[in-house]
Amino acid sequence: MTRLTESVVDGSQAKNPANPKDLPSIDRVLRRPAVAALVAEHGHTLVADEVRALAESLRERARQGTLDAAQITPEAVDEAVLGRMQARLAPRLRAVINLTGTVIHTNLGRALLADSALQHLLAMMAGPNNLEYDLASGGRGDRDSVVEELLCTLTGAEAATVVNNNAAAVLLSIAALARGREVIVSRGELVEIGGAFRMPDVMASAGATLVEVGTTNRTHPHDYANAITERTALLMKVHTSNYAVQGFTSSVDEGEIARIAHARGLPMATDLGSGALVDMSLWGLPHEPTPREKIAAGCDVVTFSGDKLLGGPQAGLIVGSKEAVGRIRKFPMKRALRMSKLPLAALEATLMLYLRPERLAQDLPTLRLLTRTAEAIREQADSLLADVQSAVAPRFSVEVKDMLGQIGSGSLPVERLPSAGLALAPVGKKGAGRALDELAAALRALPRPVIGRVAEDRLLLDLRCLEDSAAFVAQLPALRQALG
Ligand SMILES: *Cc1c(COP(=O)(O)O)cnc(C)c1O
Repeated sequence: MTRLTESVVDGSQAKNPANPKDLPSIDRVLRRPAVAALVAEHGHTLVADEVRALAESLRERARQGTLDAAQITPEAVDEAVLGRMQARLAPRLRAVINLTGTVIHTNLGRALLADSALQHLLAMMAGPNNLEYDLASGGRGDRDSVVEELLCTLTGAEAATVVNNNAAAVLLSIAALARGREVIVSRGELVEIGGAFRMPDVMASAGATLVEVGTTNRTHPHDYANAITERTALLMKVHTSNYAVQGFTSSVDEGEIARIAHARGLPMATDLGSGALVDMSLWGLPHEPTPREKIAAGCDVVTFSGDKLLGGPQAGLIVGSKEAVGRIRKFPMKRALRMSKLPLAALEATLMLYLRPERLAQDLPTLRLLTRTAEAIREQADSLLADVQSAVAPRFSVEVKDMLGQIGSGSLPVERLPSAGLALAPVGKKGAGRALDELAAALRALPRPVIGRVAEDRLLLDLRCLEDSAAFVAQLPALRQALG
């Protein structure tokens, strides 16, 4: 399908300028068979809007002398209306192919849902469900109960509740447990997560006063103990998800902070950020702290994300003691941050997968992608090399290359995942930088956009996240055309 020709406004004067008197009227355009067919399909309102907008743009260009007579033939106008309708009805949210090498990519929607989660989500959304209805008693139920038992089983916690995302989980936990009072946090853990989530600001939004203890690189148990006053409500630890402090460092673990808190009758909370419901080292991946370990260490509240390593929908999970989670659940702000039924359905099915750890690396896409071996990925790159080379020749050369990817979303920031993929380099030094930008733009402009990354004067396509080679190969004819 040709794209809307009328939008290609380069501002240059027309060779054979259209006469403004020849511009078709809106009514006449609407009566054209091709346009009438659009009206039959989509209704009068939208088509008429687009025809009006088109007429206005044609009039303006005719006035400027940039409209060619060939652009207002009936066929050209049909085509332009069709192009506008397609553009108007094309969703802005689109499926892309993630070849960045970052598995949990925040800008690309983070974790991919498992098939069972997609199916459960679809089935539950297609009709009424028992979201807040207790089927046993026939009375009102609580949406938390959909996942509470599962979360308690998987983490060893006494109680659990869920909210919109982990930022909300942290905000709500602090507000419920420490509003109007003080929260003690190490200076080494005052993190900023992407998108303006900064611990000191969250603390202020929750109405609590942050009390910083220790230094950037070293905090000791007595720093916490000495900072406790009658105004203290909570001791807190924050997982330094997206950076690492190395060298002369020391921090206090959750178990120790919890002991200090409990000795003074205070609760202790930890924000794990990603967290992993299972020990990732079982699959040869770097260990990420698990909620189960933190509950066992004595934390009263543990918060973590649903769409990072857990591999589910966007969600903020709060697990902990009956007493602390009970206060959090009853806090009025909970209602504003509660989870929608859509992610709740996906979350339930995702958590269910963890009941069968032996199958997890097949069933959970995040873990499936993370556990792909560099050899398997290199073989896939070998098999795609010829097709890609022929699509980008003669302007670019392609080779199979070892690469280093990452988990992403602040999980295990310093670890790199050995991977492989295709490296595309401009042929000839002249204008190489521009050629690379053009290539990256052409890949992004494909019907299913392909997102790679530019590094070392090449465009790198890391294939770790490409499970469906066919979907990528199907884009190559369009790429050849765009570069041709
Ligand atoms: C990612 C992260 C958050 C925010 O979680 P969202 O689910 O993105 O809202 C909070 N704290 C830490 C430590 C994180 O890594």
